[in-house]
Amino acid sequence: MRSSPRTLPPAPAHHVPEEGLLEYVAGASTDPASLAIACHVALCPACAAETSALEAVGGSILAAGPGRDLAPGSLESALAQLDAPPQSKAEASAARVAAPAFLTAFGLPAPLVRSLPAAAAAWRFVIPGVRAIDLPVTSTDATARLISFGGGVTIPLHDHGGPEYVVVFSGALEEKAEGKRFGRGDISIRLTGERHEQRATPGEPCIALVVNEGKLRPLTLRGRLLLALSRS
Ligand SMILES: [Zn+2]
Repeated sequence: MRSSPRTLPPAPAHHVPEEGLLEYVAGASTDPASLAIACHVALCPACAAETSALEAVGGSILAAGPGRDLAPGSLESALAQLDAPPQSKAEASAARVAAPAFLTAFGLPAPLVRSLPAAAAAWRFVIPGVRAIDLPVTSTDATARLISFGGGVTIPLHDHGGPEYVVVFSGALEEKAEGKRFGRGDISIRLTGERHEQRATPGEPCIALVVNEGKLRPLTLRGRLLLALSRS
């Protein structure tokens, strides 16, 4: 059943920057980054439209072949898709991929569901208030986890040894210092040196994909203790 435009959930407010989408479309993103971007694109009509347009531009360039010009108008028609009414194809396809029963309430997008290990049957305890499901990754330095943060849980101030991607599926994460709120579909991308403290909005759990391409660097004693606990 299709929902009418009036009942569509609010579109995400935090997006993948254009160069990130270009790398993603070109297949140049790392696997863990691709998973995060695919999850955002599945929930973001604007980035889905831009991804389709970039794919069309890439297709036109390949079809033209080396040393030959693009067919007249092909670039324009591809770019015109950017102005086309947004439609979330991936959101529609999400319904065709079934999440395990204990996860169905969270509206996980298809790319996330496809990345779940076959044996995923329950959350793993990490620290009080935080549970996780580990997702397989190809890189040894990277981790990708579906995480459940209890309402009001704080992730103390930390830096990152490599890029961090967070995509929220249910509930919300707040970054008080910057007055930012990440709700369903929003993506947060943090690079080394970009430190932050996050808090799950009180009153409801926050379910999010958290990808780290390097180790977390806690900057508080409480953070170091929690990190040590999470590894025990
Ligand atoms: Zn977007």
